[in-house]
Order: sequence, then structure tokens, then C-alpha cells
Amino acid sequence: MTVVETSDGEVLEFIALGGGNEVGRSCHIIKYNGKTIMLDAGVHPAHTGLACLPFYDEFDMSTIDILLISHFHLDHAASLPYVMQHTAFKGRVFMTHPTKAIYRWLLSDFVRVSSITPRSSNAAPVLFTDSDLQQSFDKIEPIDYHSTIDVDGVRFTAYHAGHVLGAAMYFIELGGLKLLFTGDYSREEDRHLSAAEVPPESPDVLICESTFGTAVHLPRREKESQLMSIISSVIDRGGRVLLPTFALGRAQELLLVVNDYWKSHKSIQNTPVYFASNLAKKALTVYQTYTSMMNESIRKQFRDAQSNPFHFQYIKSLRSLDSFFDAGPCVMIASPGMLQSGTSRELLERWAPDNRNAVIITGYSVEGTLAKDIVSEPLQIPSMRDSSVLIPRRCMVEEISFAAHVDYKHNSEFIDLVKPKHIILVHGESSPMGRLKSALLSKYNSLKGTEQEIKIYNPRDCEILQIPFKAPKPAKVVGILAENQPKKDDTVSAIAVQRDFRIQIMDPSDLRAATGITYSQVIERQRIRVYGTPSLIEHHLQQMFGSVAHVKQEEYDTVIEGLEVMDGIIVWTHPQESYTLAVIEWAGNVLNDTIADSVLAVLMSVGTSPASLKVTAKSHKQSHGSDSLVERIDRLTAMLSQQFENVEPVFESGKPKPRAMAKIAEATVGIKVSVDEIDAIINFSDWSVESTSKALKSRVQHVLAQILETISPLSQTDNKV
Ligand SMILES: [Zn+2]
Ligand SMILES: [Zn+2]
Repeated sequence: MTVVETSDGEVLEFIALGGGNEVGRSCHIIKYNGKTIMLDAGVHPAHTGLACLPFYDEFDMSTIDILLISHFHLDHAASLPYVMQHTAFKGRVFMTHPTKAIYRWLLSDFVRVSSITPRSSNAAPVLFTDSDLQQSFDKIEPIDYHSTIDVDGVRFTAYHAGHVLGAAMYFIELGGLKLLFTGDYSREEDRHLSAAEVPPESPDVLICESTFGTAVHLPRREKESQLMSIISSVIDRGGRVLLPTFALGRAQELLLVVNDYWKSHKSIQNTPVYFASNLAKKALTVYQTYTSMMNESIRKQFRDAQSNPFHFQYIKSLRSLDSFFDAGPCVMIASPGMLQSGTSRELLERWAPDNRNAVIITGYSVEGTLAKDIVSEPLQIPSMRDSSVLIPRRCMVEEISFAAHVDYKHNSEFIDLVKPKHIILVHGESSPMGRLKSALLSKYNSLKGTEQEIKIYNPRDCEILQIPFKAPKPAKVVGILAENQPKKDDTVSAIAVQRDFRIQIMDPSDLRAATGITYSQVIERQRIRVYGTPSLIEHHLQQMFGSVAHVKQEEYDTVIEGLEVMDGIIVWTHPQESYTLAVIEWAGNVLNDTIADSVLAVLMSVGTSPASLKVTAKSHKQSHGSDSLVERIDRLTAMLSQQFENVEPVFESGKPKPRAMAKIAEATVGIKVSVDEIDAIINFSDWSVESTSKALKSRVQHVLAQILETISPLSQTDNKV
């Protein structure tokens, strides 16, 4: 293979349409080599109406190819329906599965809250409606962590970012340039999430959050005990404690902390704790579904106790204050977190005049919100209904941050680990961001003028930052030109064909053949661990698809073997000690996507072969084991019910539903789930899913895979029986 290098350099352009020297309305544009990527589409929590949007008018939105959403927080995701329905944007949108699940509830709540805000005649217009939200929702493509997506030559991979459930860092490769966008991230493991990962490769450019600048946090355990000692002393003196929090994300972490304390302190157990949010019930379901994406401690609780770690024994959910009987000391965890309106604001106004009470700010408070202002302990606070009415503030105000953002120590350690050449700071108010920049500059001062020099930028909103790169563009010589290698000093006439970032140099006579072939625009890849050898994988694929072809690929000096099914879906197999890392690769189109879905389903079932499941099921019935088939089907049904409107058993066709419970399980051959009157059937014989809707089918497959992963008795062969 001959590779020649073309030498023209390229310039990376970075523009913050929001989140430049501010926290709120995150939205960043990357332009490089003819491709445009947008990162996040948030709103500013301190503003309403159009004023809360990033500066979308300053950019030609129709040029954006891809939009990646880092996590569900409103300052990162809440203007997405506006972008998709009310601007010229026509690109593809990606976010992780849990982000998409939570985003839906949060944004419908956001629409509800913004449409009931009291409006005067000159009030800001509503940004988008419920139907905008619904219409755009189905177009969002959910992705898995660690799965590399290739869209017309732009490749990106999501890594765990800590922070909140579903939060992702994106490692992006375009035309030889590598970027890492941290989003909001945390490097400290907490009660339910693992710390952010360090991606395996170093990026050229790191786009990094700088919320806390050079501040250093206390360790988590110390913060927890501080919080609990304040809460206990307020209760002892007969006061009420208000913990304003965003409904989803950090709230669940606080609930875990408080519930645990109540569990281990009998004396406090008769003091009620409330979680006031109309999303509380939804949160429970979503958080249960995705326990497999949380840290080991949560997964263990879930596995061992077979119970939902997010079902809190000592905490009562309140949908609204109508059902709240305010009769003495209590702890109230209430949304919203910034105290701008809603339940938390109403309780603050009610409780602020009494000096026995306390409000504890546990999240990051955005500039311009009451949560930020109250920390300076003003003597009065404005009433939400009429800001000219002032309410005396005598309650205690404390701030203990459980906001899962890196502090200086963790941020600079992370930067050392990823070793970028350029750092673009975003998501920070001017002064902490400026302090972070100076601290990093002085830290790396000795590298100045050397090859390892690290450049640091803190652009303002709408400022165009240009970073030139010497981009060596390798071009591959192909066709007859490659067969008859020209000798030194020969003059050859050839043409260079560039598609996306790939350049091929060929003889003009090869042009037709080379460009006439169907060329795939989207290469999708999906990685999965399979607990079996490549030959076992081949056996299962053969059973499903008939013939399987062997293919090979050279990568550096190793040869990777693969199995190809249905002319185009390749499973590359990388055998490891106890499993095989399988990478499914296919050119994205409707047919291939469907086949790839079933290949994925086959691979997921390799370690959980239906034959062995049936054997286990029978033995359990005979032994009257505690974990009977009935119970397992019940559990599966229960978990599916939390995700889908209707879930019911499917019996062998033509046979009526039996009367006895045990017989029901025996006769059950599958489960039917329905959403909006569309059905999907899960077959127990091979865990395949049938549906007329591709979207529903793949959602059911995904949920099923998660459930099979978490309910071990359903998915593993029990050798002891
Ligand atoms: Zn966030
Ligand atoms: Zn944020």
C-alpha cells in the first residue's frame, strides 16, 4: 500500500454560542475540514423566553452536521426542541439512552412550568410547545457508551462523565483531528455514579468545563457529615430544613444520603422527610432501569436485595404542597434548585421569617438566581408573586456543594492524564474561569516554547477562536496505479478523489469503477462483550442467518478476524481471556440497521442461551426453588411495566389462558408490550423481539438487554440445580 502525504494545513474554528465565560445556555460549535459539529443546546436558568437561548441567530444553523448532547440538565439540553423545530438546523442529534429517557420527562415539565408562569402583555414568548417536543423527540438518536458512531467520516464515542445519570464526554475524531468535550464532569465516585473515565487516547483539543475554577472541594464523606450535622441541629431546635434541588440527578444522590442517615439513626426516624417534585415517581422508574450504568455499590444492592435502591423507606414523595401538612420539624427536598419559582420558592417564602428554620443550598447556583443571591444572607427576599413585596429572611442559610463538577485538583489531574495540546475553557463564570486559566498557565509554564507547550483559551460568547493545525492528509494510492508502482522520477498523471476525509489517488481510468461503487455514508459500530469464543459466536450466527463468511482485516501488524452475515454486517472478534470483544460494523441503511439489531440480539444471547434457560426453568419448577419460573416471569413483567404502558403475557397460539398460576408460567411463550397502540412481542424461545415499528422494536430490545443483564437468575444457567 502506498500512502502519500498532501500538505495543506487546516484551521479549527471554535465558537461558543453560549457557555463562554458563563454558566448556562451551553452551546459550542466546532468547524474543521468542512464539517460542523454542535455541542449541547441549553438554556440560561436566570433568563426567560428568547433571552435564555444561546446566540443561534449569530450562526448559520443549516450548516451543522451533528449535534451531540452531553447530559439532560436544562443548561445543556433544554433548547434542543427549539433548535430542531424553529431554526434551519437539519443535522443529526445524538445523546445517550438514559439522557434521552430523562430528557423527555424533564422537558415536558419545563414546557408545563414555562407555560404557567404568570405572563404580562409584554411577557417573553413560549420557546416551544409540547408538540414541538414530541415531534423532535423521535428524531433523537440514542447511543450507548463506548460505542463509536461514524457519520460521514466524523467519528465519536461517548464515555462516562460522572455528574448525573447518562452524562457523557464525547471523544470526537474528524479529519485526523481529535477532540474531547468533557461536558459537566466529576472525577469523584459518589453514592450512585462512578467517576468520569479517562478516554484511552489523547486529544489534540480538550474542551473543558471550568465551573469551580481553582476552588478545591472537601471530600464527599466530610460534606455528607457536615450536611447531616446541620440537619440534625435544625430538627433539634424545632426547625424545618429546605433543600432546594433540581428534580433529577443530584436530587437522587441527596435522597440516598438522607435515607441512609435516617436508616442508621433511630432517634430521628419520626421526623418526616419529603421529596416534593412532580417528577419523583418518574425518577424512580428511570433510575431503576439504568442501575446497570451506575457504580458497583448500587449494582450490588440491586443484585443482592433484588430491590430498587431508589425506593426510599424514609422519604415520602409529594406531588404538590396541597397534600403537605406543615406541622413541625421536617426535611424537605424540593425542586427547582435555583429557587426561581415553584415548590421550593413557595416553601422558602413561607419558612424564611422563622429563625429556627434553615435553607441549605447543595447545587451549583447560577448567577442571577435567588439560590445564588440568598447565599449572601440578604435581610429580605422578594416575593415570587410580586417582587415589590419583601419577605424578612431570618432563617439560617448554608451552602454545602454536592454539585458533581470537578474542582481544581481533579480538573488539573484529569488534564495531566489526557495530555491535550490545546485547552478551551467553557462553562464557568469569567473570574473562576480566568483564575483556572492562570493557574494552568503557571503550572505548564516550563513547557512554553517546547514541543509539549499547552495552549489555553477562554473565549467569550460569539468570539471566533481559530487554531491552525498542520494536518497531514494521508492519501492512499489505489487501482492500477498501485499495481504498477511508478519508479523514482517517473511522471504520472493521476487524480485525487476526496470523500469525507479519505483521499484516494488513482489513474483516471479507475475513476468510474471507484466512484461508481455504492459508497456507504454512515458506518455504524457497536461494541459488546460476549461471554463465549469466536467459534461459539459463529455457531449462533449460523443458526440465525444460515451462512457466515470469514473475513480478515490487517490493523498495524495484527490480523483481526471477522464474521460476515447477510452481505455487509461484520462482527470483528477480539478474543480476550474470559470473553470475546465483538465489534459489529455495518453501513447504515434501513435494511442493514435491522439486521444489525438482530445480530446484536444474537450476540447478547450467546452467554444466555435459551436452551440453557429452559433447562434451568424446568429444574426450578421440579425443585420448588425459591426463584421459580413464575417469579422470574413476574419480575420481568414488572420491570417491563415500568417502561411500557401495557405489558401482558402471550400464550401458545390457540390455547386458552390456564387458571392455575404455575400453569400460566408454563404456558407463557412470550410477553407483549404496547406503546401508543403499537405492539412488540418478546419471544421467550430466543429472546427475539417482533414489532411492526422499528423504533419500538429496538427500544424493547435495548430495555430487554438491560433487564437480562440485571436479573441474573433469568439470564444465567444455574449449574447447581
Ligand atoms: Zn450539569
Ligand atoms: Zn451545566
